[in-house]
Amino acid sequence: MIRIAVANQKGGVGKTTTAINLATALAATGSRTLLIDLDPQGNASTGLGIGHAERGVSSYELLTGQCALQDAVIPTKVPRLDLIPATVDLSGAEIELIELQERTHRLDKALEGMADARWDVCLIDCPPSLGLLTMNALIAANSILVPLQAEFFALEGLSQLLQTIERVRARFNPELSILGVALTMYDRRNNLSAQVAEDVRACLGNVVFDTVIPRNVRLSEAPSHGIPALIYDHRCPGSEAYMALARELIRRLPRKKKAA
Ligand code: ADP
Ligand code: MG
Repeated sequence: MIRIAVANQKGGVGKTTTAINLATALAATGSRTLLIDLDPQGNASTGLGIGHAERGVSSYELLTGQCALQDAVIPTKVPRLDLIPATVDLSGAEIELIELQERTHRLDKALEGMADARWDVCLIDCPPSLGLLTMNALIAANSILVPLQAEFFALEGLSQLLQTIERVRARFNPELSILGVALTMYDRRNNLSAQVAEDVRACLGNVVFDTVIPRNVRLSEAPSHGIPALIYDHRCPGSEAYMALARELIRRLPRKKKAA
């Protein structure tokens, strides 16, 4: 199972939208996919139509060792896509984990074992911080996908994220690679978007995906209906872009780790 952390410590850059729609695209192309909601806001869970009442056991119980992986997994309306939901309980985990052993490796440990046989790919939707939750995601992951909003301050804060990745790689997870940086909310009619995209490519080079996610109202409407945009309107420009991003991502994926 390939594990991909969708991370950027900035909020509102398109992490959750990317996680939901990429997960859906990957499931649609035949991959058995697991999405782990690791943000206390639980937006990925809501966006997939999993209401609060259905989130009995969540990523919080999983990280704190109060449940087994299979107990936290719920199927979604999307065939081949399963979810580990998040609740507000998770906001306490940043503090509570400090007390626990191997606090940075809780998710990695939780994914050991049956997960490799059950899913081909796992996406982890990270919270907007570089705290213990994101740390757990980076240590559990093989690679990281960074959504970057095509706006003026896009690159600001990126060096902090890159430093964190470097530190995780050096200390805990030498395999961790950057799968790619995806430009999101790109506005074709706005010169600034084009300028930002050019700057980002000049600065980061090939790591930036060719596919750019346009600003598209369908992408922001879909979550209120509890379905991924890819199903809500699979022909809107946003959905088409996420399908293209999934194809590009599949080409970039590292070789699958064999199940132990
Ligand atoms: P994050 O998870 O990084 O905080 P979200 O994916 O939740 O970011 O996106 C923030 C807001 O922007 C949400 O309301 C979402 O619906 C909207 N949004 C995300 N991507 C797009 C897009 N490409 N076009 C239009 N709205 C978008
Ligand atoms: Mg989010």
